[in-house]
Amino acid sequence: MTVQIAEELARLHRLMSWYDVPQQLPATALTGEACVWCSTPVGSTDVQLEPTEIPRRGCAGCYTARLAWYVSWYDWHLHVQTCTACQQRQVCYVGHGRRVLHELTIGPADRDAPVCIVCVKAPSAVDLVVPVRWEGDARLYLGYAHAGCASGRWAAR
Ligand SMILES: [Zn+2]
Ligand SMILES: [Zn+2]
Ligand SMILES: [Zn+2]
Repeated sequence: MTVQIAEELARLHRLMSWYDVPQQLPATALTGEACVWCSTPVGSTDVQLEPTEIPRRGCAGCYTARLAWYVSWYDWHLHVQTCTACQQRQVCYVGHGRRVLHELTIGPADRDAPVCIVCVKAPSAVDLVVPVRWEGDARLYLGYAHAGCASGRWAAR
């Protein structure tokens, strides 16, 4: 169990290091003296991002906020992948609960509100929404789609 948790954390840690560090950083963040997300000076609980040869650090608050975003997205995604009701686009309270938990992490993680990747509209609270992931531009995207839009090439992602 311990090994699995460590591996999962390592995977999410790499995702955050690769995709969530802003392209433009202030000088203090480039030298590892400040958090790459909020620019506060580093402290003893800050996290070294990858690759470890480059001094890039995130403060505990910013880091855990982003980690919560990833963990809740993957929890929701795993549920939808394995739930018959969600797969059949029926109302599922567990699936909706995972969505709500994930949406609570969006603000603290400085993420944009969900937009359907197919119709490019923001889903309302009562729309059925599913998490979808895809790869493009040599990177991984974790996003959302209306359940009704998520068919064909977006199905079962
Ligand atoms: Zn920070
Ligand atoms: Zn479900
Ligand atoms: Zn849509």
